[in-house]
Amino acid sequence: MSHFHALACVFGNPIEQSKSPVIHGLFAKEFGIDLEYSKQLAKPDGFDAAANLFFENTRAIGANVTMPFKLAAYNWVDELSMQAKRAGAVNTIIRTPEGFTGDNTDGIGLVNDLLSHDVELKGAKVLLIGAGGAAKGAVPALVDAGIQTLYLYNRSSERAEALAEHINNFAPGLVSLYRDGDTHFDVVINATSLSLNNSLPELPVKIFKNHPAVYDMVYQAQTDTGSTVFLDHAIQHGCTKTIDGLGMLIGQAAHSFYLWFGQKPNTTKVFKHLRQLK
Ligand code: NDP
Repeated sequence: MSHFHALACVFGNPIEQSKSPVIHGLFAKEFGIDLEYSKQLAKPDGFDAAANLFFENTRAIGANVTMPFKLAAYNWVDELSMQAKRAGAVNTIIRTPEGFTGDNTDGIGLVNDLLSHDVELKGAKVLLIGAGGAAKGAVPALVDAGIQTLYLYNRSSERAEALAEHINNFAPGLVSLYRDGDTHFDVVINATSLSLNNSLPELPVKIFKNHPAVYDMVYQAQTDTGSTVFLDHAIQHGCTKTIDGLGMLIGQAAHSFYLWFGQKPNTTKVFKHLRQLK
C-alpha cells in the first residue's frame, strides 16, 4: 500500500491563535500517522468557498470548525450526526465515501473533562451561563450524561429562551430559565467569552452558595493565579473544585481525531505539554 499523507485543518476567523495544529500534531505522532494539519482563515461570508476548495484534494480527510463558522458548517455538510443535530452547530467535518458528515465534539470534550475531575453529572443541577455556540455544543452531551436540570442564564434573555425552546425538542422538561435567587447548583459552567476580558457575568454570588464544581470554557490564564477571573471569583466564595477549558479543548480535539482515524489519543500527555506552553 502506498504511503498516505492525510490533510486536515481548522477553519476560523480569526485563526492565528488556534492551538489545534499543535494538538493534532501530537496526536498524529502518537500513532505514527502522517497528518498535515493547517489553519485556514476564511472570509466572514466565505466558509463554503473555503471548504469546497480545501476538500477538492482527496487527501483531505476532515476539518475542525471554530468561530464564527459552526453554523455555516452545519449547513454545508451532507449529513449530520445526532450530536450536531441537537447542538445546532458543527465543529467537526468527516469525509465519508458518500460525502461529508458534520459532528459536534465540544460537548463530549466538556463532559469527559468534568468526569475526569470527578464531577458527578448524573442527577446534577447544572447552571449554564451563555447561549452562544459553545453553550449549544455543550448541551447534548450534558443531557446524555444524565443531568437532572439545566438552568440557563444569558445576558440577552431572548437567546436563552430560544435555546431553552430548542432543547425542549429533544429533552422535554429538562430546562429551567435561571431566576434571581436560585442557589441550588451542583455544577456551574461559564460558556461565555467574558473571562477573556477579565469580566464577570452579572450574577449574584449566591450561585456559589452550594459550593458547586465550577467550569470556565476559557482556557488562557488571565489572572496572577494562573486561572480565570471567574474561577478566582468562585474560589473566593468557597468553591474548591474549579476547572478551566484546556481539558475541553483537548478533549474535543481527541474525539475529532477518533472520528477521522478510529484511534483514541492520550490526552493527559498533550494536556501537560500545552499547560507548559502557557
Ligand atoms: P459566541 O459569540 O457564540 O457566544 C458568546 C456568549 O458570551 C453569548 O452567550 C454572549 O451573550 C456572551 N457574552 C459575550 N460578551 C458578553 C458580555 N460583555 N456580557 C455578557 N455576556 C457576554 O461564542 P462561543 O459560544 O462560540 O464561545 C464562548 C467562549 O467559549 C469563547 O471564549 C471560546 O473561546 C470558548 N470556547 C471554548 C472551547 C473549549 O474547548 N474550551 C470550545 C468552544 C468555545 P449574548 O447572547 O447576550 O451576546
